[in-house]
Amino acid sequence: MISHEMIDKAARLISGCKRVTALSGAGVSAESGISTYRDAGGLWDRYPEGSSGGILAVMTNHPEDAPQILMGFLEGIKKAKPNPGHRALVDLEEMGYLRAVITQNVDNLHREAGSSQVFEMHGNLYRLRCLKCNKKEIMGREPYFKMLEELINKMTRFSLEEIASNLPSCSCGGSARPDAVAFGEPVQDLPEAMAEAKACDLMLILGTSGVVYPAASLPGVAQSGGAKLIEINPQQSALTGRCDLFLEGKTGEILPRIVSSLREIQGKNIIPPES
Ligand SMILES: [Zn+2]
Repeated sequence: MISHEMIDKAARLISGCKRVTALSGAGVSAESGISTYRDAGGLWDRYPEGSSGGILAVMTNHPEDAPQILMGFLEGIKKAKPNPGHRALVDLEEMGYLRAVITQNVDNLHREAGSSQVFEMHGNLYRLRCLKCNKKEIMGREPYFKMLEELINKMTRFSLEEIASNLPSCSCGGSARPDAVAFGEPVQDLPEAMAEAKACDLMLILGTSGVVYPAASLPGVAQSGGAKLIEINPQQSALTGRCDLFLEGKTGEILPRIVSSLREIQGKNIIPPES
């Protein structure tokens, strides 16, 4: 359990800032029940090729396991709801501190919680992108899961051709695919994320391993611009060494405590933030 002193220290650092950016990783989604493949018991334990090649590599090597892998993945995200960590970030935005969330997660939970400025470096699973005209469209949860379940149920083994022929079609006649970034594909929102990292005065590093680039380079960019770094993580990461403050634990437990502490500071009017 993180001491009150540590929480207070984090709150005081934030209270002096006007442009906080959060960088969130798989750990934040894990607290909503979405598996981080890298962890013990995760998918990469059973299929080691996943850690370097991603889920597509796993399905290519084990085509007959693909329907079950995809269905398991779908079940996980279907049940997931924003957790207290997601909601605390919305509080920080409403209090006038947080400007943007940069995330590596594709599950839409930051937007669902109510964060208004979200940069999704690995895309968004609920967004369909037309492969022909590049039109992007967010789908509602219900029709999205229905569409994917039908697609998976038709599948007996993984084949790109089969998936391609069953993708939903765009009004232009092209096929649309979920707009999440696969291994080897370029990340999204990078210019926006870099600009936020350069401009922020404090970066919250939340539940990320700090080993997946280019997201892992953003804290360094922020620090070079003079920003303070606060990390909240269940265990130390590749980024811990450069952080001004490391709080060991879950974002969903620690961040709401920091918000309460900030409200106390605001109440005492020690350093009022400019909204
Ligand atoms: Zn189209």
